Amino acid sequence: MKDFDVIVIGAGLGGLSAGALLAAQGRRVLVLEQYSQIGGCCSSFERKGFHFDTGASIVEIIQPIEKVFQKLGTTLQKEVDLIPCDPVMSIIRPDGSRMTIPFSIEKTGELIRSISPEDGRRWKDFVDFCSEMADVTLDTFFNMPADSMTDLFAMLGKQPRMAKYLPVFFASYQHVLERFFKDERVLQSMGYQALYFGFPPALVPGPYAMIPYTEQMGIYYPRGGMLQIPEALRRVGERFGMQVWLNARVEKVTVRDQRAQSVILAGGSEISAQVVVSDINARTLYQKMIGEEYLSPLARRGIRSYAYSKAVPMLYVGVDYPPPLEAHHNLIAATPEDVNQYWWKHVEQGKLDYETIGLICWPSHTDASLAPKGNHALNIIPEGFYNLADGNWDDLKEEYIQKELDYYSRFAIPGLKEHVQYVECSTPLDYERRLCLPQGAIYALQEDLTALAVFRPAVRSKNIRGLYLAGASAHPGGGVPSTIASGMIAANLIEKYEQ
Ligand SMILES: Cc1cc2nc3c(=O)[nH]c(=O)nc-3n(C[C@H](O)[C@H](O)[C@H](O)COP(=O)(O)OP(=O)(O)OC[C@H]3O[C@@H](n4cnc5c(N)ncnc54)[C@H](O)[C@@H]3O)c2cc1C
Repeated sequence: MKDFDVIVIGAGLGGLSAGALLAAQGRRVLVLEQYSQIGGCCSSFERKGFHFDTGASIVEIIQPIEKVFQKLGTTLQKEVDLIPCDPVMSIIRPDGSRMTIPFSIEKTGELIRSISPEDGRRWKDFVDFCSEMADVTLDTFFNMPADSMTDLFAMLGKQPRMAKYLPVFFASYQHVLERFFKDERVLQSMGYQALYFGFPPALVPGPYAMIPYTEQMGIYYPRGGMLQIPEALRRVGERFGMQVWLNARVEKVTVRDQRAQSVILAGGSEISAQVVVSDINARTLYQKMIGEEYLSPLARRGIRSYAYSKAVPMLYVGVDYPPPLEAHHNLIAATPEDVNQYWWKHVEQGKLDYETIGLICWPSHTDASLAPKGNHALNIIPEGFYNLADGNWDDLKEEYIQKELDYYSRFAIPGLKEHVQYVECSTPLDYERRLCLPQGAIYALQEDLTALAVFRPAVRSKNIRGLYLAGASAHPGGGVPSTIASGMIAANLIEKYEQ
């Protein structure tokens, strides 16, 4: 008899979601996490009384998460105190002025109308277009596997309205937005979000242009920090007997007769299971833990072909004043074209820009308990990347922190530098070392059209039986709701195929 029915490698959101659901199916589940804490990119930590989020700092499109908790016999609302962020966000313009977006479709329409009456009129058309597309994608893309063309036809069968939106996949984020909006000041509030998918607006598939609409479905922050989401998945999973071992690094997945047999931990101990679920980067899994010799030539070429997704640095800043910001979630204004230019000039060239676009999260604005009284915690994410043309992140780190504090003090957060009580930075290299994210890739693999759905590594491995993928490497890709949905898709397939 095997030691466990299921071993999950990695206690990120995808791994915990799959683990909890599989435990709820009555399986004996062990989740192995190499770090001292669960959550991976969606976690939190404390320094000198300030609580910071490791990576993810807000959650939107919560419907797939609600679905997972329902399948676990509870509700998201019961398990996590999600606070809606109102205003939804504040856009900080280069001259320091702000455009604050309310949590209301009507009021946002009025705001846009006050800037450009024509764009204000089109906001309603945009909302109509996106609301139907959002319904359709939530019911299919976030809910069903996409391992094969048959799976895609099953989606179409479930939601025939999907056919109407298929051409949108061949348009870009920028193209879709610019069909509706013309005014530069309006577009400045919508360009940056393309980078949530790891590419500039010219390269992100069109359906993701619904983000300025889905933001109006709510942006949320869990009371107590982002760690509360993985903690809730773990707590519920443990009610069904799921075990989580920390500081347990998997080195190898053994395969016999093209079937996953066991995992070998650092230190050499072997644990066997009927099924192995991987929540780690698919390239690490197939190329390092399993070995390409177990893959067909096509799969070998396929796995080599994926580029790692984007990486970012993150600054954790504790301050002793209320920062002059207007919302939990603040973006530096950027039109789609500004973001494209940043991408071509900096990311593609490996040339770091110290005065770049980025976002600022202010968790203690939403939950005052996250900083000592009268103090505040900020997570600042200036856009960045892993491969630097000049120097390396370790050597640059101290200079980088100072330059970013200067830049943000100058216009986005006046006074910041004089009020810093604590500052730390996670560079892409730090993420790589701490969370085993190759090249600091926050969404594991590229997320353009060539690596989505049927083109992403299959959830149910096509080469190795008993091996399943969850997390950002698998469909529907990176991000909090998608990775939690990926765990559900993996658990559903295991229920179907592994008796
Ligand atoms: C800076 C940053 C900001 C982000 N902002 C947002 C945001 O605001 N909203 C949003 O929706 N998403 C955001 N994301 C993306 C989102 O957090 C991730 O896509 C998601 O959390 C990834 O989940 P995952 O299940 O793929 O696994 P991961 O989070 O990658 O977790 C994998 C786990 O596996 C463990 N592991 C790795 N190798 C091994 C091994 N050999 N043995 C055992 N364990 C192993 C790791 O330690 C890790 O805990 C952000 C990410 C980052 C880094």
